[in-house]
Amino acid sequence: MTPSTTPVRLDLQKQSQLTIDWQDGRTSVYPISVLRTLCPCATCKQSRQEQAAAPKNRLSLRVLPGTVEQPLSASSAELVGGYALRIDWSDGHSSGIYSFEYLRSIDPQAAAR
Ligand SMILES: [Zn+2]
Repeated sequence: MTPSTTPVRLDLQKQSQLTIDWQDGRTSVYPISVLRTLCPCATCKQSRQEQAAAPKNRLSLRVLPGTVEQPLSASSAELVGGYALRIDWSDGHSSGIYSFEYLRSIDPQAAAR
């Protein structure tokens, strides 16, 4: 791993955000909702691709079952093999493994520049 993909501090605020301090001195802040949306697992990737490919003029209304009133949060997280973070979500999803390389690449502050 390079300093830019090596975290020196991980701070997960389960209701709001994940903060990562990187070895190269950068700090990245990921809102929980952004992290969940960018889940890197095969299922979520595929549904994002389908949404991107769908005709924009088609009106779609998706009704989520049950827990709409519950704000999304992370219920727990664990390090995987020293190179990634696996996050359990309050909506029951847990197959997303966020490698540090991936997290660095989706840094919201970097994308805004
Ligand atoms: Zn997923």
